Amino acid sequence: APRKSLDPKALAAGIRAGNRASLARAITLVESRKAEHRAIARGLIQDLLPLTGNAQRVGITGVPGVGKSTTIDMLGSNLTAQGHKVAVLAVDPSSTRTGGSILGDKTRMAQLAVDQNAFIRPSPSAGTLGGVAAKTRETMLLCEAAGFDIILVETVGIGQSETTVADMVDFFLVLMLPGAGDELQGIKKGVLEIADMIAVNKADGESALRAQSAASDYRAALHILAPRSPTWSPPVVTISGLANEGLDAMWEQVTHHRDKMSATGEFQQRRADQQVAWMWDLLQQRMMEALTGNAQTAERLKRLEGEVREGQTAVSVAVEEISSLIGV
Ligand code: GDP
Repeated sequence: APRKSLDPKALAAGIRAGNRASLARAITLVESRKAEHRAIARGLIQDLLPLTGNAQRVGITGVPGVGKSTTIDMLGSNLTAQGHKVAVLAVDPSSTRTGGSILGDKTRMAQLAVDQNAFIRPSPSAGTLGGVAAKTRETMLLCEAAGFDIILVETVGIGQSETTVADMVDFFLVLMLPGAGDELQGIKKGVLEIADMIAVNKADGESALRAQSAASDYRAALHILAPRSPTWSPPVVTISGLANEGLDAMWEQVTHHRDKMSATGEFQQRRADQQVAWMWDLLQQRMMEALTGNAQTAERLKRLEGEVREGQTAVSVAVEEISSLIGV
């Protein structure tokens, strides 16, 4: 008989009942390196699938220091006070290197950390961005099954992480600092293109005026971009996460976006597209794992790469040999 902690039926029942310990245990299985754990996690998610998909999924990005944790702590607390259940997840591709996640750290969100209607989970720290993202997606489903109706996914703009998170949420929020002049130069190309809203944070005290002027700059910048959707022009708002100012108005935009996009069918379309893209992502990962996971095949790949580099083996011949390693 399976150990009780790994019994999928008991875990599923616990999650359905909103039991936090069951949820945490299931997430541990999702994140596990052991194939048998991941198999249990897959069965569990398939089981719980009818209970998923009901949350508002919101991605939040911004450079370190912009105020992500301060804002999420305050926003999340506002939302739980309104009766919502809020899960905070993180995608931090650097956590593998640093050996610990800086995002989704409970100490950074002091109010939410002790809130019974909030659940904070730091970034999984296994492998590639794709691997981290896959685990976060499954964790999101488990949280939804456990009754969380708002999922906030935090990320810092490292590598492709913004795009990766934007591809797993319904709404992508970009936090910016006041003083846009320099900031506009420094921000990564492409992040404005995937933003569903920009919030200039720290619009308080001495930086209030600079935040307003930054907001106008971002409005102008967004204006010359072709919007992602004919239904939605990304708004630019100013907030103070610290003073809890503008957060309600900001969240209203998130809800407004969902209503408008649902009415046109774009909401459902975006989710369906994400599901299918996720399937191909995961398949690609699995096939690469099949190739590189075994020391013997990894060795052979290396040798073939060397031969191709030296011009001893034709690329097509190398690919044929590599394909045969995974039976295709
Ligand atoms: P993160 O690295 O993006 O998570 O940023 P933090 O939330 O840790 O905030 C970085 C610093 O900015 C901290 O010292 C915060 O107190 C401060 N901060 C965050 N939000 C605001 C804000 O709205 N106004 C002001 N004045 N400071 C803020």
